[in-house]
Amino acid sequence: MLLVDHGVFIGTAADLNDRHELVNHSVTHILSVDSVDPALLLPADDVFCRKWVCVLDEATSDLLSHMDDCYTFIQQAVEGGGAVLVHCQAGRSRSATIVTAYLMKRHGLSFSKAYEKLKTIKQDVQVNSGFEEQLCMYEAIGCEVDFSCPLYKQYRLNKVAEKYPELEQVPRELFAVDPAHSSSSEVSYRCRKCSRTLFRQSSILSHSLGDGASAFAYKKSSNLSGDVQCTSYFIEPVQWMEPALLGKMDGQLLCPKCGFKLGSFRWFGDQCSCGRWVTPSFQLHHNRVDEIQRLNIKR
Ligand SMILES: [Zn+2]
Ligand SMILES: [Zn+2]
Repeated sequence: MLLVDHGVFIGTAADLNDRHELVNHSVTHILSVDSVDPALLLPADDVFCRKWVCVLDEATSDLLSHMDDCYTFIQQAVEGGGAVLVHCQAGRSRSATIVTAYLMKRHGLSFSKAYEKLKTIKQDVQVNSGFEEQLCMYEAIGCEVDFSCPLYKQYRLNKVAEKYPELEQVPRELFAVDPAHSSSSEVSYRCRKCSRTLFRQSSILSHSLGDGASAFAYKKSSNLSGDVQCTSYFIEPVQWMEPALLGKMDGQLLCPKCGFKLGSFRWFGDQCSCGRWVTPSFQLHHNRVDEIQRLNIKR
């Protein structure tokens, strides 16, 4: 095990067996980022404060959602005057990802600076490509995982899309609360035909017109003179969509009240009218829904 920061060590699963080393370094906390239960590797009478994040070292694994919790755990060890061992199997990818995230948040470092610092201490670290992306996103969201942040929502959806259709059903917490069954002062959108409320403004996952879009726009401009625009709202799944999504990779999205065709969903993604590819895609056409300002409604 190697000291990375004040009170923070990085190591391997084998380090759990080295009781002398742990005692010598005054380790009080053990953070296991591993698919193997660390309890099997530790002596039965261990007195460590432990946290186990059960993940495989795969690019599709989600560590971003655990970064803040792990930070808090490490911080508790350090501020309590103890030390923490962060380990996975080889101490190269999963534990290195969590330690890098800690360095970023603790010292206000960019991903590249924090990762560079870790690499000078432990040369063989090599976080997998998925974890690297997650660390970049962690930097982009200010090292604070906000579950209502559109970037984070899009990330969660992508993680589910990668596992679909083996997953067969969408995790419940991924669906936004049905705005027809709850009240809010937020701007909402309703079915143009029957006025049933469909989604809130905070459910819109907007996208920017990237390089792909400008290439597409250029191509289009040779035979079309109008501006390239988005003609759909791309949103997070809302509770009323659940029956339509069940076991399907793609399909139509109909109004749950009147059956009006509102749009479509495709887990493997779809191209917006502006040229941007969105994965996964849950889109409702602008001309099928109306915006409503809740505060102006008098009933
Ligand atoms: Zn309707
Ligand atoms: Zn668009």
